[in-house]
Amino acid sequence: MIKAEKLIKSYGTGELELVVLKGLDFEIKTGEFAAIIGPSGSGKSTLLYQLSLLDEPTSGEVILGGVRTGRLSMQEKTDIRLGKLGYVFQDYALLPELTALENVALPIIMQGHTMQESYAKASLALERIGMVDKKHNLPSQLSGGQQQRVSIARAIAHEPQILFADEPTANLDSVNGMRVMEAFRDLHEKSDQTIIMVTHEPEYAAFAERVITLVDGVIVSDERKSVVK
Ligand code: ADP
Ligand code: MG
Repeated sequence: MIKAEKLIKSYGTGELELVVLKGLDFEIKTGEFAAIIGPSGSGKSTLLYQLSLLDEPTSGEVILGGVRTGRLSMQEKTDIRLGKLGYVFQDYALLPELTALENVALPIIMQGHTMQESYAKASLALERIGMVDKKHNLPSQLSGGQQQRVSIARAIAHEPQILFADEPTANLDSVNGMRVMEAFRDLHEKSDQTIIMVTHEPEYAAFAERVITLVDGVIVSDERKSVVK
């Protein structure tokens, strides 16, 4: 469903050119939970930006659900991003004065859905991520792991085809990190959500069913493995 074709990304030009992604070819199928791991600076975030249409590759292409995205206009890409993709970042970026439910509902409201519809979708997303009992809490009344789970609910509330996460556990202790990983795993198992997650922690990558290892902008291994139960 999402395919990288001869994907190259470099920054700068001439002598200062830094080639970060050195011609990547792979495909992630619908319903897969894939982790991208590798040392710091190996190009993981850069790869995620290309796959999720937040950035444009220097050459090569991302093909999303059969659509060759290199030919799309900015507006068409924005429409795909808002409608079909979901993002979870390191810093949960929740608005402190809004409840969990309001934080999850806000992007849906902004996309033009009615309040009633938006709150219903938000509530369902919080339920899917095991946070519905905290829906009236403010972020300050939640642990870091719970806040991150609210941000996952926000990322899936519009039912994206692909959920992207860049180091979602970076700011969490190991207990909270595990909770967040369990939430991703449950989401994947219960609803076949396609998930592409970047991490540099092998114990978190073990929650995924497929692990792609990036070193210096090259895929050095791509393995399907048994999932932690
Ligand atoms: P990772 O997420 O694996 O830690 P990144 O994708 O963030 O790695 O970065 C890979 C390399 O690209 C690093 O050397 C980084 O300094 C460089 N890089 C990332 N973004 C930019 C940018 N906007 N301009 C120049 N260099 C960048
Ligand atoms: Mg990174």
